[in-house]
Amino acid sequence: MKKKLTIVLPCYNEEETLPDTLPKLLDILANLKQENKIAQDSCLLCVDDGSSDNTWQIINEFNSKGLSVFGVKFSRNYGHQNALIAGLSVAVKTSDLMITIDADLQDDESTIPDMVNKAQSADIVYGVRDNRDTDSAFKKISADGFYWIMKHLGVDMIPNSADYRLMSKRAVNEFLKYDERNMFIRGVVPLVGFKSDEVFYARKERQAGETKYPLSKMIHFALDGITSFSIAPIRIIMNLGLTIALISVFLLIYSLVQHFAGNTTTGWSSLITSIWFLGGIQLIAISVIGEYIGKIFTEVKHRPRYTIEIDQANNIGKVDRAS
Ligand code: UDP
Ligand code: MG
Repeated sequence: MKKKLTIVLPCYNEEETLPDTLPKLLDILANLKQENKIAQDSCLLCVDDGSSDNTWQIINEFNSKGLSVFGVKFSRNYGHQNALIAGLSVAVKTSDLMITIDADLQDDESTIPDMVNKAQSADIVYGVRDNRDTDSAFKKISADGFYWIMKHLGVDMIPNSADYRLMSKRAVNEFLKYDERNMFIRGVVPLVGFKSDEVFYARKERQAGETKYPLSKMIHFALDGITSFSIAPIRIIMNLGLTIALISVFLLIYSLVQHFAGNTTTGWSSLITSIWFLGGIQLIAISVIGEYIGKIFTEVKHRPRYTIEIDQANNIGKVDRAS
């Protein structure tokens, strides 16, 4: 029996891209079906992450035309990562293979058939960018810096792979057992194990609309990635504290020597700089600890990661075509 493929698209205010994206992906699905590489009921699953524009209406239009497009609608905006988790949770009930791809198709959809081929011998196929020509210099440098830090913190990530990947049913089921609220998907997927493969592509420009990841969201995302995976920052702060304590012992000896040699100065500048310096270090240290306590805080509450208002794929909730 052929495997059922579901392509999961997180959509947040994507009214400008979806009318173009959905037919393109449907074409790819149709070709794969024709070549008998995937099951006939393979489909697209759009997760509307609480959009405030016409995203849901567009998904509904495609759905009502019977075009193998289904929608899941969040009750509000829960963020990209939660939209992906929800899409996978819904899709895994009926699908054998799942591909996640951004709704703006910046990740090259033409590699999907390649991914499907490679899925014959691998449970996870990562989409890996082999150049970043379309990115701004800032995004390039910050992304490189981020992957460098993650690597040196010991987090096993596939560099330059975003959330464009194929996963088999068992890989998704294992992935979904990671029940953390602060989910950083691209860090967790490699932890699942299984045999993996890669396809390479060049990332395109966003075809329409604006990025839904402004700088503030990007920084938050990177910090989440680091602090969800590593306690190295706490250790760095501890070592810094020890080093400073050691330096202050030498400074103490130095100042005693100066004192007894009769070289005492007014000392105001050294005093004021050390107050500022230590104050700064203490604030950094407290904020790092605070970051982890914040993580514990959100984890222990164990709140739901998202709420689905309508699920067309599994008929949970009422399908309100008019809205
Ligand atoms: N997205 C989402 N919820 C959000 C922000 C973004 O579901 O709160 C989706 C968005 O619709 C897109 C994907 O996540 O499909 C990636 O967002 P975007 O293309 O804006 O990010 P960029 O490519 O600029 O990093
Ligand atoms: Mg994008």
